[in-house]
Amino acid sequence: MDTIQIKDKQFTVSIREQDIQKEVIRVAHEINRDLAGKNPLFVSVLNGSFMFTSDLLKHITIPCELSFVKLASYQGVSSTGAIKEVLGINEEISGRTIVIIEDIVDTGLTMQRLIETLGTRGPEEIHIASLLVKPEKLKVELDIRYVAMEIPNDFIVGYGLDYDGFGRNYPDIYTVVD
Ligand code: 5GP
Repeated sequence: MDTIQIKDKQFTVSIREQDIQKEVIRVAHEINRDLAGKNPLFVSVLNGSFMFTSDLLKHITIPCELSFVKLASYQGVSSTGAIKEVLGINEEISGRTIVIIEDIVDTGLTMQRLIETLGTRGPEEIHIASLLVKPEKLKVELDIRYVAMEIPNDFIVGYGLDYDGFGRNYPDIYTVVD
């Protein structure tokens, strides 16, 4: 499918499944290499990163744990920057190596807030693994160590990401047609 319609918007395919998978595997290899012996705790940010988390974790070969947090920050097609933690983490964070798994870093405000929140619980280090980054939109300084792909400043759906709740199921990534 090259174009899809979700509610009032049309989207056209911009990143194919096989290209996504290639970059996800590359990121997994980097994490395996860098964090061997550290027993990282992956903290996956729901809902958008569920597909990325699943594919990434299949290629992680070092001992690790996985937890999920749920935040809400995005309505329609513009970021508000306000986040709300809905589901917390039960695992011990103190002294651990944390890898936050995020679908997309846009302004970076969501990630900054999450790092601040986790930081109060005494982790040894926190790394970010983001499927996508929109470098032009970044408003805060973030060291995003693991990035699968950088994309332009357009609204996208698919591979876990939604438009008003729809579109998460597609294995490819689609960009909105203006
Ligand atoms: P930030 O706080 O970095 O501005 O926003 C991050 C969150 O906004 C992401 O986790 C994601 O939920 C949402 N977001 C940012 N850009 C897009 C986009 O192009 N498409 C979709 N579906 N969500 C986006």
